[in-house]
Amino acid sequence: MWNAAVALDNDERDLLDEFEAGQIAVDLDFASPQEVLRWTLERWGQKVAISTSFQAEGMALLDMAWRLDPGIRVFTVDTGRLPQETYEMIETVRARYGMSIEIYFPDAAQVEAMVRLQGPDLFKKSVPARLRCCNVRKVEPIRRALAGLDAWITGLRRDQWASRANIRKVEIDHDHGGLAKISPLADWTAAEVEEYIQAHDVPVHPLYKQGYTSIGCAPCTRATKAGEDPRAGRWWWETNAPKECGIHCPIETGGFEHEMEAIVHLGAKGPADVGERV
Ligand code: SF4
Repeated sequence: MWNAAVALDNDERDLLDEFEAGQIAVDLDFASPQEVLRWTLERWGQKVAISTSFQAEGMALLDMAWRLDPGIRVFTVDTGRLPQETYEMIETVRARYGMSIEIYFPDAAQVEAMVRLQGPDLFKKSVPARLRCCNVRKVEPIRRALAGLDAWITGLRRDQWASRANIRKVEIDHDHGGLAKISPLADWTAAEVEEYIQAHDVPVHPLYKQGYTSIGCAPCTRATKAGEDPRAGRWWWETNAPKECGIHCPIETGGFEHEMEAIVHLGAKGPADVGERV
């Protein structure tokens, strides 16, 4: 069905070209998440890692991958504004799976400069200010995390948001240096993720029990009401802005930076706004 693993020199980057990525994406389009993960781990080993913020999709993937390879690498970003419940999840995962989580932090000098100029809660002041905060606290640390990888695994699903409707299970992430972006859950529904979690007793983020349907930084996430879009609780005060942050959000879409650039450009009304660009 697809090519077997390739033995690689650690000093070389094993990047897919467009033809190979397209062929593999077709081959794996109907494969189960576990089959996609098995292929990914055989190909990249320690040069691939799961990106997670410990929401349902990331936890299901983490559990699946750990069953295939207990040495699977997992990374996350501590923005400095996470809810306490997310830190509790990190401790839960460390204890349950016996793994260390690679935690990336924002650059201290960038945070200091940003907060000194615009205050600690700049994200409430304008969309460009919010995007600057996301860029400093999330996007830049993720760029650093990805710089040492040949592939990364995300929990994206096609039915999460319009911008994710066409994702493939294997793609080239041109926004992060051309490494492969693997989305094994692309064709799963939220119900299938939930079913897996219950069947395998996977740890669940405590905020789901409080009505949260998407979980990010504490000041920028709220619980949602019945009938609301699952991502309606992210930056709920904004209108006409993408519900993406640059990390799973992308931090996982790869297209976030493009959306951010477009919005910042369109939203710039003068020197003050332009000055907020990172
Ligand atoms: Fe900043 Fe909010 Fe983005 Fe977190 S989600 S990085 S606090 S703007």
